[in-house]
Amino acid sequence: MKPIPSAPSPLPSEPVVPSDLKVKLAEQRLQVTWDDGSQCVYDLAVLRRHCPCATCRTEREQRSESPAEQRSGSPMSLTILKTDPRNLRATGATLVGRYAIQFEWSDGHNTGIFDFRFLRSLPSLPAEQSAS
Ligand SMILES: [Zn+2]
Repeated sequence: MKPIPSAPSPLPSEPVVPSDLKVKLAEQRLQVTWDDGSQCVYDLAVLRRHCPCATCRTEREQRSESPAEQRSGSPMSLTILKTDPRNLRATGATLVGRYAIQFEWSDGHNTGIFDFRFLRSLPSLPAEQSAS
């Protein structure tokens, strides 16, 4: 008894594809129009804070662990934030194939590749209106 081959079902996960990407370096904003017509505006400083590269992930993990370690000993704590988002600016961006966008930062960092699925999961700003 052979099962009757059915027509191939559509992929369960819909592809996340932007139809238009605008990087506004002056405002440090990324405006994305998705394939379904919805629009998202991202603060580039937020994207940098969520940079998915191994270096930044390790740095974030170490930062979140350090307060507990410092509790033993003196109550004094010194935190040095190497990447101050206020001084850090994106200086450029390139598309990586058809699936991601990669930013270049003023501190020379450029290894973070933002997959569009990942990008869509990040917090976005309310869509900009004509009023400023
Ligand atoms: Zn990074």
